[in-house]
Amino acid sequence: MLRPGLIWLSKQDWAEQGARAAGVERLLVRRFVAGDTRADALSVAAGLSQTADDVLGANAKFSFLGEAVTDPAEAEQAVAEYCALAAAIGDAPELDARMGVKPTLLGLGISYQTAEHGLLTIVETAAEHGVRVELDMEASDTVDATLELYRAAAARSEWTGVALQSYLRRTPDDAQALIDEGIARVRLVKGAYSEPARIAYSGTGPIRRAYTALLEQLWAAGADVGVATHDPVLHRNARRLARDLPTIGYWEFQMLYGVRPELGLRMRANGERLRMSIPYGERWFPYLMRRIAERPANALFALRAIVGR
Ligand SMILES: Cc1cc2nc3c(=O)[nH]c(=O)nc-3n(C[C@H](O)[C@H](O)[C@H](O)COP(=O)(O)OP(=O)(O)OC[C@H]3O[C@@H](n4cnc5c(N)ncnc54)[C@H](O)[C@@H]3O)c2cc1C
Repeated sequence: MLRPGLIWLSKQDWAEQGARAAGVERLLVRRFVAGDTRADALSVAAGLSQTADDVLGANAKFSFLGEAVTDPAEAEQAVAEYCALAAAIGDAPELDARMGVKPTLLGLGISYQTAEHGLLTIVETAAEHGVRVELDMEASDTVDATLELYRAAAARSEWTGVALQSYLRRTPDDAQALIDEGIARVRLVKGAYSEPARIAYSGTGPIRRAYTALLEQLWAAGADVGVATHDPVLHRNARRLARDLPTIGYWEFQMLYGVRPELGLRMRANGERLRMSIPYGERWFPYLMRRIAERPANALFALRAIVGR
């Protein structure tokens, strides 16, 4: 019950204003968000990518925060920000970084054409700088359009990828279509939204099983996969499959900035490839609410801090 409520709250303006007024930004946001600006995000990534002693550096994926945009000017501003970000990554050759983009930030809610135009502009600029653009997957009513956007982007450039959500019952078919089309460059996630049982699995066991089966399906076809989860059971399954499947292509673990940092450090110390997803920007509220929905203890931490206990 809590999770759907928190996802609903993430879309409410009054809740966002309340959170800002209560000082949640100071107390909780900085754990999960690099800062307001591109420079903040680049500086966090530079810290993570440095090698210290025998600990390997982590690579990065940047996300400019924002979603559900209805104003074309805001969508254009996001496109300009991503183009500037691609150039900044290109100017830092020591940094292995990608960019994660939300279709609804590019104006998918205005029209498909708005989002496609913005995405292709970003993809062309990013390709010039050798930066991969990955489409995030949002709520289930945007999946068809997001896959269509991905196909349009992949037709322009190989510096592209898309997230697939293992909680959706349709995902094995979507994965197979991408494999058949030769464009299976996938970030595999569990899924962060609130979806009805008709279309999505719920509960730890079914979602883990679906995730592992997808990993096997993708790797059996030699797909390029980011194993994007903090779940140690899935990490173990991934390592086992990677060892056993001869067809495996490029793969890496991916985690969110601020979530289980100690686990990330251990993985890096063990010599495993890790990419950290680093969000930045002022529109942090929906992102933060999804992180709280994944682990309500995060909210208790903030609440305790607010009431001073
Ligand atoms: C790199 C990356 C990109 C993503 N992109 C997308 C996307 O495009 N679309 C989408 O729908 N979802 C995306 N997600 C989110 C994903 O769908 C899950 O909601 C999220 O990863 C939590 O699930 P989990 O796989 O870590 O497993 P869980 O079972 O939720 O978590 C495993 C363990 O990790 C820890 N943990 C997990 N989340 C938190 C948290 N917020 N705070 C503190 N500890 C936590 C807990 O200890 C938990 O026991 C992404 C996740 C990652 C890592």
